[in-house]
Amino acid sequence: MRLLYLTLAIDSVTERPEVETERRLRALTDRVGPALANLKLRDALRMLALRDGLTGLYNRRYMEDALNRELHRSERNGKPISIIMIDIDHFKRFNDTFGHDAGDFVLSSVARSITEHIRLSDMACRYGGEELAVLLVDASLESAMERAEELRLAIRQTNLTHRGQSLPAPTASFGVATYPQHGANIADFLKAADRALYCAKQAGRDQVCAAQSATVAKPLVTA
Ligand code: GH3
Ligand code: MG
Ligand code: MG
Repeated sequence: MRLLYLTLAIDSVTERPEVETERRLRALTDRVGPALANLKLRDALRMLALRDGLTGLYNRRYMEDALNRELHRSERNGKPISIIMIDIDHFKRFNDTFGHDAGDFVLSSVARSITEHIRLSDMACRYGGEELAVLLVDASLESAMERAEELRLAIRQTNLTHRGQSLPAPTASFGVATYPQHGANIADFLKAADRALYCAKQAGRDQVCAAQSATVAKPLVTA
């Protein structure tokens, strides 16, 4: 915070600053006022550009930029980065049974539950639709798997009441991947997490799956 401190001489009869001083003061506030309003507007616009309106989580674009930076950092310091891909199970049923508003409410409640169960250094984002992701910097596959399991339990324990109606507890499926062990670049890393998420869905939903280690292409040995 910055403070502008002014000391003014006050006329003892009129109990006001001198006319010229007052004129200058007005000129100053006329300039500073809009500049401050612009700063506030700039902050608000920056928030809108970074965050998803419904859930308040980072948007996908921001997350991919951050991931790009973090992968470079990881290459330098040799520390792993993990990602947890999350997809709400049978989310369409919430919309179909209780209406789109209730669906929105479930989505933002799940997002809140996720933010309450991650560290400040972790980054949660709305990846698209009812798909969310958490980026964990300096986290091994094991610790990311543990965190995903905590999130799974937290989500299925959420009590939801929307407009006086109690809703069934949501569940979600989770795919976890770690850089660089599951992909040498962003695209492969994200693909590995996506495949793990698909595996969790296939295995019956409401569960966590780890990515498979990237397969190293072996030369075909001919006799
Ligand atoms: P699965 O367990 O296989 O993931 O099933 P699902 O029903 O969650 O998946 P599906 O892809 O069939 O449906 C996702 C639904 O999510 C469809 C789409 O209308 C809804 N959806 C996406 N974004 C929003 C949103 O912002 N608000 C609401 N209310 N619904 C959304
Ligand atoms: Mg879904
Ligand atoms: Mg989906």
